[in-house]
Amino acid sequence: MKREQIFRQTKRLGQNFLNDPNILRKICAAAKLREEDQVIEIGPGKGSLTEHLALGASAVTAIEKDTRLRTFLDEKFAESENVRFVYEDVLKGSFSRFSTGGKMKLVSNLPYNISSQILLKLLDERELFSKIVVMLQKEVAQRISSPKGRKSYGSLSVFLQSCFSVELAFRVSRHAFYPVPEVDSAVVVLDPLKEPVFPVSNEKTFRTVTRHAFSSRRKIIRNSLGNFFEREAVERALSDSGIDQGRRAESLSVEEFARLADSFRKINQ
Ligand code: SAM
Repeated sequence: MKREQIFRQTKRLGQNFLNDPNILRKICAAAKLREEDQVIEIGPGKGSLTEHLALGASAVTAIEKDTRLRTFLDEKFAESENVRFVYEDVLKGSFSRFSTGGKMKLVSNLPYNISSQILLKLLDERELFSKIVVMLQKEVAQRISSPKGRKSYGSLSVFLQSCFSVELAFRVSRHAFYPVPEVDSAVVVLDPLKEPVFPVSNEKTFRTVTRHAFSSRRKIIRNSLGNFFEREAVERALSDSGIDQGRRAESLSVEEFARLADSFRKINQ
């Protein structure tokens, strides 16, 4: 029996492999691959996306945690000089190790169980990338691309939209995967903004204020922030940034969160 047939997918590692060539092509098209592109892929699995990426890019570095795939991948890509595999946990170590100078693209069908952690890591390392294209669980994709005012709008949406234009490119049925997962998926394109919405020096406060604002979604923002900061400071920051004291976090735009964080910074100076 071939190695391919006896490999058992591990749920813990989010191993649902894509086997629809149309979807693989659509992902590459969304990444707008060019001959000179350096691409990072997280979790190549059995290399179906890797194969397509290698056709359109100059080089692909694929990071895979599951070392059981090593022999299979090494054999499958023995002739592909522009593909290299790194067997490690993507959450450890910086992507900067793989940079050859210019900005890279990141294209991946993410392991869904750690997708939020990966998105936060990409946010922290955004300077390295010119474009990020990721397949996610549909609900996560909707959350991060959500406009204000929806239930799905939360701190992760605000964090990502403060630094990227976030577009839900297309949805993907669960039946495009093997084994068929319990959820549907969607592909999201993240294009870095020229400048983040907040002043760079204030990123830490921006994240803290946003996270605290969403900590009790049913409360008005003055009360949810009041659990973490002096009430007087909260009221002053809201009024300095022109935000009504009675609003709820999900009604604030990304720019309003940036203004609010800036007011907190000025109060604490
Ligand atoms: N790219 C393949 C495809 O589209 O068919 C596989 C995608 S599968 C959803 C996710 C892949 O990420 C699996 O191969 C899994 O082993 C790998 N993975 C899971 N956790 C990882 C981690 N912490 N670091 C690197 N790879 C990981």
